[in-house]
Amino acid sequence: KGGETHQSAGKVVMATVKGDVHDIGKNIVGVVLSCNNYEVIDLGVMVPADKILDAAVEHGAIAVGLSGLITPSLDEMVHVAGEMQRRKMTLPLLIGGATTSRKHTAVKIAPRYSQPTVHVLDASRAVTVVGSLLGESTRDEFVRDNADEQQRLRAAHEAKHTKLVSLDEARARGAGVEHTQQPAKPEWLGVRELRVPLDEIVPYIDWTPFFQAWELRGTYPRILDDATQGEAARELFENARALLARIVEQKLFEARATYGFFRANREGDDIVLWADEARSEVLARFCMLRQQRDSKKGRCASLADFVAERGSDDYLGAFAVSAGHGVDALVARFEAEHDDYNAIMTKALADRLAEALAELLHERARREWGYGKSEALSKEELIAEKYRGIRPAAGYPACPDHSEKRTLFSLLEAETRAGITLTEHFAMLPAASVSGLYFSHPEARYFAVGPIAKDQVEDYARRKDVKVEEVERWLAPSLSYDP
Ligand code: SAH
Repeated sequence: KGGETHQSAGKVVMATVKGDVHDIGKNIVGVVLSCNNYEVIDLGVMVPADKILDAAVEHGAIAVGLSGLITPSLDEMVHVAGEMQRRKMTLPLLIGGATTSRKHTAVKIAPRYSQPTVHVLDASRAVTVVGSLLGESTRDEFVRDNADEQQRLRAAHEAKHTKLVSLDEARARGAGVEHTQQPAKPEWLGVRELRVPLDEIVPYIDWTPFFQAWELRGTYPRILDDATQGEAARELFENARALLARIVEQKLFEARATYGFFRANREGDDIVLWADEARSEVLARFCMLRQQRDSKKGRCASLADFVAERGSDDYLGAFAVSAGHGVDALVARFEAEHDDYNAIMTKALADRLAEALAELLHERARREWGYGKSEALSKEELIAEKYRGIRPAAGYPACPDHSEKRTLFSLLEAETRAGITLTEHFAMLPAASVSGLYFSHPEARYFAVGPIAKDQVEDYARRKDVKVEEVERWLAPSLSYDP
């Protein structure tokens, strides 16, 4: 910047893959690479494979960097790698983003592309990786080490056979939750929408993930006094608070929510929501997955287990919130001023506000559900989830199927009531959005479904009335077998 004429170290084409909208990590990598003399061609979010690869060719890039956050992006990256092979490209492929891993890159992506495919853990590593790949004296050794490590990871992956039980057996084991207590009844049923002033949301912000987003690891507020990271953390926090104050003051974002309570019962591994008092007409059906791992405790949990079967007047809640309205406009303003730092900061703060709004709304929902009326938790205790009940989010370990958001969004009329839409891979737009289900059972807890076997995939496809192949596509990271 500033018109100096230094030579570019090379061009790197970067993109968030098709169907995904998350780009904070990618943008930080972009800034770091730019600061190290690389020219970054950032194609933005939701970019199809062809567009990425055409740009790489057109710009004579030295590397392609793919980013993504949600699990369907993992599969999209596998697809891009395959396309690079088909096009006989020779550029190194860099993989980054929250759900990506060394292991997934080694097992699923690298085998599709015969050229170097490298998992890049964070922005600070990106410069080292690109530098090593380019340096004439370092390249061969780096490529060899990377390939060796990936070979080791693949071998370890193949050797590790998790023992799974059959779906029937898993159902017989269940989560071990009893439904002896009378379920709590919400004081209203149906769907409501809400706009929440930003200043009410701010106290609910969990700052720890904010520092993670900026690759500072540690817990807030302790991180501010950390011997090595403290100074950077304090500076970052100060800048964040200042921008946040401006956003709140000038109402630059709009926080919108839609949520509801519904009569519900478990039906096998499904949770059925009823349209009528008699519980005879189905309003919606959420299909859940069940653990099949042969664990020591002998339990195989499914979220469905936390809802009582027919005969009991049980309920389920649902929510979708967004703090992302207004974000693009502010980002565009900063980008026009070439202020990448505050453009990223804007998105990071919007994410924090969305999560905080989810916390605020959950507290309100517990009160309206009755059982939360006597709750008296501090903000720290809320963030530590010391309350009764959970709010699992589709795509997370207890309910890894992102496509269930389709049902959730139509139930909550999320688009008209809260202005949130879904991409073709079920990422939420605006990106600063959170959605999920509310479970009230005192023993409801988060868990990971983990690997699932073909018998469950077939059963699940039947329940959802979709093809087995479609389930295998959305749940690729959860499959215990190669389809
Ligand atoms: N205070 C945090 C909250 C988000 S992380 C923040 O501000 O970022 C915790 C959320 O992730 C939970 O509320 C839930 O919605 C989701 N979650 C965590 N573990 C989960 C699991 N195993 N299954 C489903 N959802 C989960």
